[in-house]
Amino acid sequence: MAMKINDIPPEGLTLELKQKLDLFDTGTASTAFTSILSIRPMGAGAFHIKGRVQADPELECSRCLKVFLYHSDTELDITLAPEKALGTAPEYELGQSELDVEFYRGEEIEPLDLVKEQLLITVPMVPLHRPDCKGLCSVCGTDLNETDCGCKKDNPGEFGAFSVLKDLLKK
Ligand SMILES: [Zn+2]
Ligand SMILES: [Zn+2]
Repeated sequence: MAMKINDIPPEGLTLELKQKLDLFDTGTASTAFTSILSIRPMGAGAFHIKGRVQADPELECSRCLKVFLYHSDTELDITLAPEKALGTAPEYELGQSELDVEFYRGEEIEPLDLVKEQLLITVPMVPLHRPDCKGLCSVCGTDLNETDCGCKKDNPGEFGAFSVLKDLLKK
C-alpha cells in the first residue's frame, strides 16, 4: 500500500482508494472507505495532498452503548514533507498552519495513514447514536430510547445507592 516517492511523477498523480482499514486499531480492517487523493510534488521531497475521504465507521453510542454507523465525509488538504526537513525547512509552513504539515520517514509515503488520521479527526470524542439519545437508566439499565422503565430519575445516582442500601437493611 505504501508508495515509493520515486514512483510519483513530477506532474503528480491521482489515487483512488476503495478498501477497508483498521480505524480504531482493533486488529481487523473493518471500516470501509472511499477516497480520491491528488498527490503533487512540491519539490525538496514535499508533496501537496488534497482530496476527499468518505467512510461509515462503526461507533458505540456513549450513552446507550448501541453500535451505529457514523457517516463521515471529509476533505483532506495537507503538505507532506520528509521528516529530515523537520525544523530545518520553514518554507513548508509558510502560509499554512502547522497542523496542515505532516512528515514522512524514509522513501515511502503511506496514503492509508493519511486517510486514517483524517477520519479519526472527524469521529466525535463522545459519539451519540442520535443527538437526543436518552441513554440507559442509571438505576436498572433499561434502554430509555425503547421503553420508560418508570424508575425515579430526579436524582438517579442517589436513588440507586439508596435502593441498594434498603436491600441490605432488609437482610
Ligand atoms: Zn444512544
Ligand atoms: Zn430504570
